[in-house]
Amino acid sequence: MPDKTDNSPVQWIHTGGFRDYGAPQAVCELCGHTRLRYHFLIANRETGEALWVGSKCIEQFEVAVRNAQGQLVEDPARKGQALREVMRETLTERVLVPIDTLFEQADRQLQSKLRWITGKFTRRGGFSPKDLVTLFRLLDAHNIEYEPGIYPVTLRSKKDRVELVNLSRTASSMIWDCLSTAQQEKNRQLFGDHRP
Ligand SMILES: [Zn+2]
Repeated sequence: MPDKTDNSPVQWIHTGGFRDYGAPQAVCELCGHTRLRYHFLIANRETGEALWVGSKCIEQFEVAVRNAQGQLVEDPARKGQALREVMRETLTERVLVPIDTLFEQADRQLQSKLRWITGKFTRRGGFSPKDLVTLFRLLDAHNIEYEPGIYPVTLRSKKDRVELVNLSRTASSMIWDCLSTAQQEKNRQLFGDHRP
């Protein structure tokens, strides 16, 4: 299905702006819905009026979304997917910026290690538990600011899960909040309560 271009009659459009509050605490400026974790910025193409709203409002009302290819998506069934792409890209950027800063300060040996860790993250969509602990310790040692909660952990392979259970208490407490609720739950079932 071809996407409508700029002669689209839809007046409101998602600007690409996106905020993650880390906890459900934001309010939708369109419907007043509370306890939103994510905010998306929409703007009126004629008046320039802008609002921070929840994804549900974008999906339900006539608000167009640009997908990762920059095309306008107006089909309600496809808008949710386009928003998730925007979120993933924004979060990935915020994950990678501190690593880039570290890379600039690193010697050759550390640079190749960082390249290896980042390459695995890009391929797998998450960090192995050990890689993430290593990374956080390096960022801390170099006084580089980062947002621990947005770094995803992957526990898909058995090696990942063994890594997690073999972490020291201090190490596992460093990355526990990076685990999704489902991962934390599964980890409890498999290995007993590992929460520090
Ligand atoms: Zn709303």
